[in-house]
Amino acid sequence: KGWNVERLDPWRWKIPRQGNMKTDGLVYATERMMASIREEQALEQVSNVACLPGIVGSSMAMPDIHWGYGFPIGGVAAFSVEEGVVSPGGVGYDINCGVRLMTTQLTLDEVGGERIKDLVCALFRNIPSGVGSSRKDMKLKDAELDRVLLQGAAWAVSKGFGDPSDLEKIEEGGSIPWADPSKVSPRARERGRSQLGTLGSGNHFVEVGVVEEVLDPQVARVFGLHLGQITVFVHTGSRGLGHQVCDDYIRLLLKSASKYGISLPDKQLCCAPVESREGRDYLGAMGAAANFAFANRQMITHWVRETFEQFFGASADRLGLRLLYDVCHNMAKIEEHHVEGRLRKLCVHRKGATRAFAAGHPQVPATYRAVGQPVLIPGDMGRYSYVLVGTDRAMAETFGSTCHGAGRVLSRHQAIKSSKGRSIAQEMEQRGVFVMAAGKATLREEMPEAYKDVSDVVAVVHGAGISRPVARLRPLGVMKG
Ligand code: 5GP
Ligand code: MN
Ligand code: MN
Repeated sequence: KGWNVERLDPWRWKIPRQGNMKTDGLVYATERMMASIREEQALEQVSNVACLPGIVGSSMAMPDIHWGYGFPIGGVAAFSVEEGVVSPGGVGYDINCGVRLMTTQLTLDEVGGERIKDLVCALFRNIPSGVGSSRKDMKLKDAELDRVLLQGAAWAVSKGFGDPSDLEKIEEGGSIPWADPSKVSPRARERGRSQLGTLGSGNHFVEVGVVEEVLDPQVARVFGLHLGQITVFVHTGSRGLGHQVCDDYIRLLLKSASKYGISLPDKQLCCAPVESREGRDYLGAMGAAANFAFANRQMITHWVRETFEQFFGASADRLGLRLLYDVCHNMAKIEEHHVEGRLRKLCVHRKGATRAFAAGHPQVPATYRAVGQPVLIPGDMGRYSYVLVGTDRAMAETFGSTCHGAGRVLSRHQAIKSSKGRSIAQEMEQRGVFVMAAGKATLREEMPEAYKDVSDVVAVVHGAGISRPVARLRPLGVMKG
């Protein structure tokens, strides 16, 4: 379509303010990426978001942008707490979907060859996965579920899942303080009750990998990363509970748009003023779902450690299964940012985007504060993934945000069609990656060609200066949902 986009430099494109837009759109992409982004409705979504009241700065999209519910995936938008809005579509259905990365003392020869297969099988046995996966052994009582929703990862640690020292290596310390479990519906609770401690389906994964290239030795040292080191990624979110919270509040906020006189270019952008009752209720429920996700990743981390201990016959301490960091990539948060020389309180929506705070920020863990926040960017199950670090430029330009992954180029349906007659598991094995999935169609939906090349995406955020590459990881064995 004939979107009016102006190229600002090799990495940035502006959608000039027009019609009901209250600000410009700003898209991070190369010329080649832009050619395919133009084919989708994603640019329209960027300009739709720019129409919402109280938006501060530009309506932004990262290079992993693709179509999403209301807001594009890869979208970043900040709203004034006083005059702006909060929108469930700007967070996404999988509230606090996120990624964590563990480092180990293990080397390639200790997990290579046939061993990786046995290790992935062992992970599969110990971590429930798949569509609607649940744990029959643990159906949480209401009071216990309330504690999960209030405390997040800290609840999991109090139950013996992991170590208290893990908590400082999690965004927000693994616990959203404004969470309000009383705003989570009975239906959402029912869906969450038996799903805590499960991976879920499709794109969610536990991945054993190796550090293949160190791009910034100084920062890598601070993060505890080195060449040839074995690492473990965990990618999952808030399961049915978060999905139901999103559903519930979309339904509710569809009504508040007219109540508060907000005109929506697209119903899917339904929202409420941040400080309205509806807005606060959504934020409270969203925070609770986010805590569920933090607890979920913490429990899975514990089972990864147990699995490694059994498999290698050594303690997790000896194996060095240390949590490097845990990032959220579907969240809205109240944060303070400098805008035109003034410190302002904003509701920052990151949907398929990652916080990337710079060196010196008080919310960066003390051990990393001198270099900046670790940013975890999974690529796909066949090629590679990255660890980046936040920059001052991100603080100045994107409210401390960057991309979250490679981003899809093929829908699940397209991927299944175009992989007809192929064995993705075999193709992966030829590349030296052992994969196993719970879902029948998962491997085809998730084949590497379904995603952009994450190195292209990282080149954009690096080129634009909104984060800096630290290390590249290669997958060895992947457990997919
Ligand atoms: P999302 O949560 O938006 O679906 O996914 C985050 C990102 O994870 C995707 O954009 C994709 O780049 C990446 N990803 C999906 N599956 C895998 C996988 O099996 N391994 C790795 N390393 N990355 C993946
Ligand atoms: Mn995710
Ligand atoms: Mn997810």
